[in-house]
Amino acid sequence: MSSTAHPHRKGDRTRSALNIYYCLCGEFALVCDRPLSTLPVRPLDQSRVLRCLDSPPYSTTGAPQKVRTARVFKISAQQAPAKLIRRSDGTLEKQYPFECARCHLQLGYEHTPPPLKSGGRFTFILPGALTDRQGVAPPDAFLEQLLTSIPHAEHDAQGPKAE
Ligand SMILES: [Zn+2]
Repeated sequence: MSSTAHPHRKGDRTRSALNIYYCLCGEFALVCDRPLSTLPVRPLDQSRVLRCLDSPPYSTTGAPQKVRTARVFKISAQQAPAKLIRRSDGTLEKQYPFECARCHLQLGYEHTPPPLKSGGRFTFILPGALTDRQGVAPPDAFLEQLLTSIPHAEHDAQGPKAE
């Protein structure tokens, strides 16, 4: 590492480095070093990708590539039973969802068994699941899902279908 940043405005730096997100019910859910809106999007389901590990400096062909550094983040959520997603092209994907501890709305998923951030390369945040303003739904919120899941915090198996 050759870059030695000069943190002479420490207060400003730490404040702007933290981005706090809430579940649509207002429960604290995520703190991250980058705004969610700047993170890469997974084309398959439009979820935001939080990188847990630095990418390797060399590609699979051996060519040097730009290292993408892991994000610094912490998730406050509880994990739900694993589920198998079947894509329209027939491929299967096993996901380990995590959900809001209060209203049980699914917030995202990983590809590795619990606990969160236990070895997988990525953590995925579902589109519209989180907002940076407590009590305000983002424009891409699944309002229908929100309304059905909050009043009775029970699972009616209406998980997202891959079609
Ligand atoms: Zn919630």
